[in-house]
Amino acid sequence: MARTMVQDSLELREPHLSGWEQGRSNAGITSYFDNEGNVRDFDKIQKSILSVLIGVGMVPSLPKLVQAGPPQVLSVILDGRVVGSMASGIVEKAVTHLRKLKLSASSVIPDDLEVGYVPLSMGGPYPGLYMFTSPSRFIRPVKNLTPPDGKGNDIELIGPFEQVYMEISCPDGRDGGRKSKFPATHEEIHPTGILSVVANLTPWSDHNQSPRNMYQCQMAKQTMGFSAQALHCRADQKLYHLQTPQTPIVRTSTYEKYSVDEFPLGTNAIVAVLAYTGYDMEDAMILNKSSVDRGLCHGYIYQTETIDLAEQSSKSDQALRTFQRGKLDTSLKSLIDSDGLPYVGQMIKPYEPYCSIHNTQTNKVTTSTLKGTEPVTVDYVALDVKNKEHPQKVNIRFRRPRNPVIGDKFSSRHGQKGVCSQLWSDIDMPFSGTTGMRPDLIINPHAFPSRMTIAMLLESIAAKGGCLNGKFVDATPFPSSVKKTNVEQESDSSLVDELGSMLTARGFNYYGVEVLYSGVYGTELKCEIFIGPVYYQRLRHMVSDKYQVRSTGVVDPLTRQPVKGRKQGGGIRFGEMERDSLLAHGAAYALHDRLHTSSDHHIADVCSLCGSILTTSLIQPQKRAVREIGGLPPGRAPKKVICVACRTSKGMETVAMPYVFRYLAAELAAMNIKVNLQLSDGAGA
Ligand SMILES: [Zn+2]
Repeated sequence: MARTMVQDSLELREPHLSGWEQGRSNAGITSYFDNEGNVRDFDKIQKSILSVLIGVGMVPSLPKLVQAGPPQVLSVILDGRVVGSMASGIVEKAVTHLRKLKLSASSVIPDDLEVGYVPLSMGGPYPGLYMFTSPSRFIRPVKNLTPPDGKGNDIELIGPFEQVYMEISCPDGRDGGRKSKFPATHEEIHPTGILSVVANLTPWSDHNQSPRNMYQCQMAKQTMGFSAQALHCRADQKLYHLQTPQTPIVRTSTYEKYSVDEFPLGTNAIVAVLAYTGYDMEDAMILNKSSVDRGLCHGYIYQTETIDLAEQSSKSDQALRTFQRGKLDTSLKSLIDSDGLPYVGQMIKPYEPYCSIHNTQTNKVTTSTLKGTEPVTVDYVALDVKNKEHPQKVNIRFRRPRNPVIGDKFSSRHGQKGVCSQLWSDIDMPFSGTTGMRPDLIINPHAFPSRMTIAMLLESIAAKGGCLNGKFVDATPFPSSVKKTNVEQESDSSLVDELGSMLTARGFNYYGVEVLYSGVYGTELKCEIFIGPVYYQRLRHMVSDKYQVRSTGVVDPLTRQPVKGRKQGGGIRFGEMERDSLLAHGAAYALHDRLHTSSDHHIADVCSLCGSILTTSLIQPQKRAVREIGGLPPGRAPKKVICVACRTSKGMETVAMPYVFRYLAAELAAMNIKVNLQLSDGAGA
């Protein structure tokens, strides 16, 4: 990915990572292979661990199992097997010894051995010494404070099981909020070691309220990013792709460490924080339509359809099927090539065919038609040429445009999500008095007081300063906790001070505010507006994939009520709570309309004599010939309904009811319960 800016961090915040930055060791997963790439002999590893354990005082469970248990004796478990027991007094010493052997290069103990010592406790987990050597375990590096002979390798790989029983301190040199002295045996390499990869991408997350950081971790996984470099030769089921991604101006050291620039997940948007009209209420945001027209947050969904002919013909018939367009039907010519496949770049509308299959036995041609309600573009067609003469398998990739529209979701990296409520063109947006710049995005100031995402404000100021200086800004959290290593640089100035003076040096306001003019009236806004670039993510929840409307359509054959599901063209459930709401409002007509008229309206014949709706039967009117013989006048005789039970049509009435009621009566009849209806005319009821 080409970088538009000089890769250089500002002097004010140096990247300050020690050991792991130099590539000594890294968080990861234990492997079947050793450092040289040879398959590890786990039998041998386990045997050598056993001999070390026996050396430090373990009593092996073979040939005779020791009957005693905690608290005197703790069992020793290696990879899920009880291998022996140890007097509880010496376990701690054995653990320290094993950790020392883990670090020394010459020992046979692997460096990724997990030594989980569960100490004796009241009501805690079952005590014992649990060890793991197996592959596919998570491990991460921490610094061992008591390395063998005080020098050499002090980076120990620990696993999630042992971690909770270890004393790991933060490198800030403080007590971690404890009253007593921190009995630390290990130390984090960097304070950000406690954060995951995703959490590490949030700039200055130490300035945010913690739930906001967690929301961001959820949303970072929902961004429409740049998820793959070799997009042109991939056949993913569904792939969201951001067309115009950018690298963030404010980023953490982890961002560079993991080369997230190769897979960027957002855009630098100029964000103004102001209440402009009412379209930014309740986390709604106004997008600059002109910015969108220039490519802001444009995206695509790629969807691959796989057609396997071998699958279709596997069952009863062994007929050969090939991709081929029917020779007689010329109407398909504009959509499907002679090879039975669509043209690349072709637009296909709903219910149009995109693939044609010829059955050589029946000489019939079948087509696959596009489902859904929106047109797609054929992006790529890949044929499996294993069978050169008659290819049997094809991948057809469709491309659906997903440029921002009203209702699409966006989010900054601080858990501040919002929905686009308006797309306004440039001329309607407010503009800066000094630079003339117009924001790409307007959010409401109410997004800040209760959420306390201070880092987003910092990001805005820092990005503004970074832009003015043409430099990226390092926003690694907990910078002061590792500052003690370079004492000379220690200064009293706060982060805000450093960022603010960066702006004033370029003639901007210290607090990042600017005088804006109304785009509608051209008058100066009464208050100075906080404006600056913030990295925004486009989230993949889009109205085009979610909207659900119908007037009439498919109904369930059993209940005659509308089916559910957007894909099936179904309705939206009007449930109990919605019903209660209308009842509480006294909106009887609206309720009747939703639950009956618009659902499963039905007119049933009911016998008022016996009150049954199930015993009615329709008598077919007599045929014309019979009627004429009888001297009756020609024409349609009215339908005649009789009650089979009463053997008369005297008491027949028609009643409007939901069809499910009739179904219920039938179900009840099946278990010998009779439903009696007592009819009265509407006026008397
Ligand atoms: Zn009857």
